[in-house]
Amino acid sequence: MYDVKSMKAQEFIDDGEIRETLTYADAHKNDAAEIDRILQRARERKGLSHRDASVLLACEIPEKNREIEQLAEQIKKDFYGNRIVMFAPLYLSNYCINGCVYCPYHGKNKHITRKKLTQDEIRREVIALQDMGHKRLAIEAGEDPVNNPIEYILESIETIYSIKHKNGAIRRVNVNIAATTVENYRKLRDAGIGTYILFQETYHKESYEKLHPTGPKHDYAYHTEAMDRAMEGGIDDVGLGVLFGLELYRYEFAGILMHAEHLEAVHGVGPHTISVPRICPADDIDPTAFDNSISDDIFAKIVACIRIAVPYTGMIVSTRESQRTRERVLHLGISQISGGSRTSVGGYCETVRPEDTVQFDVSDQRTLDEVVHWLMDMDYIPSFCTACYREGRTGDRFMELCKSKQIQNCCLPNALMTLKEYLMDYASPETRAAGERLIAANMEDVSNPKARETLSGWLDKISQGERDFRF
Ligand code: SF4
Ligand code: SF4
Repeated sequence: MYDVKSMKAQEFIDDGEIRETLTYADAHKNDAAEIDRILQRARERKGLSHRDASVLLACEIPEKNREIEQLAEQIKKDFYGNRIVMFAPLYLSNYCINGCVYCPYHGKNKHITRKKLTQDEIRREVIALQDMGHKRLAIEAGEDPVNNPIEYILESIETIYSIKHKNGAIRRVNVNIAATTVENYRKLRDAGIGTYILFQETYHKESYEKLHPTGPKHDYAYHTEAMDRAMEGGIDDVGLGVLFGLELYRYEFAGILMHAEHLEAVHGVGPHTISVPRICPADDIDPTAFDNSISDDIFAKIVACIRIAVPYTGMIVSTRESQRTRERVLHLGISQISGGSRTSVGGYCETVRPEDTVQFDVSDQRTLDEVVHWLMDMDYIPSFCTACYREGRTGDRFMELCKSKQIQNCCLPNALMTLKEYLMDYASPETRAAGERLIAANMEDVSNPKARETLSGWLDKISQGERDFRF
């Protein structure tokens, strides 16, 4: 029985409700009047229910699909302007006791090299990431209570935050580790993490159990209820995601929105981010073995419909996707991307991209400098901002500012200042020149004269070598 406020996975992600939603969406996918009603509601910028959003996703009327795309683009502009937040993943360990059939780190894969970084190796990786210009990391580790216990993760976070190399600093560590206990989430909160990220992979319980045949992750309820435990443990910002390609995408789409609605209904705050990975090639993994893979067009439509359904939730796309695909979805709703990523354990210290511990093939293999330049060529502002969590703007405090759009008074100046830091410390001469032009052009968009004056003063100070100003 569907109950958005229930604490039981099978009640807030009720299979019957998803099926009824899909039937409803099918019944209305060519119903122009119903689609107009939903678009009208979406224009209020307050989001949509999973049912209404599912109708938009199913819509087969070409001109309405164009309207959906245009609205997503407009909402993206209204809430995020032309800023794109940059981050990089950092793989700590690929030891894992789970049996996820789509991941090369699964415990039964005997021909992948297993590696776990020591604190010294983490130091070297973080220095390499700082030297690229990164300020925001997402740490990744397989589930293995012996090799990767919570103490190892906590020690690693402490190490990462402690490293100040030249002008570098990692200012926000997001954490992507297996579902765990309230007590462990509390420890992560106390360690000062940014967002806790856990991908559901699939909301379809039966498929979930087949795709996770062994290990603790097999337990659908424990995994699906993890975000509630994280919030109970005091983590304000959580990141959802599904791995598109495992199950029918429309099922996953309804599921992830129901999960977001559940978090909002129970904790008063929805997810901080939603990630949209698609299954991709890796050692021991052939994506064609999964018959639910989605086309680039469907992928773009999913991004647009999520943007409309949850306007104030950040959306992330990784280097799994090609430059072309990333370009296509950026304007439809993506607000964060990774750049210069290495998806292997210890990959940033190697001059040649290592293959032996890689989790998935990186489609976009450009350097961070190239990605930054590419974004600026399209008039996006690459932002290395991490201000909110450091200013205590998390959870419902963050969402309130976001929903009232006040957050934008901070985002733009912070984006310009962190870009300036990047240009001064890490950019190639061409990227620096393009960046300086972009900063000058975007100064006018800081509407408050007092803020503009403060910003101008801080930019001058950054030129003179000072760092870490923030609104
Ligand atoms: S997806 Fe995560 S839990 Fe599953 S095998 Fe890979 S690393 Fe382990
Ligand atoms: S000010 Fe806050 S919301 Fe805006 S980019 Fe920075 S961290 Fe993100």
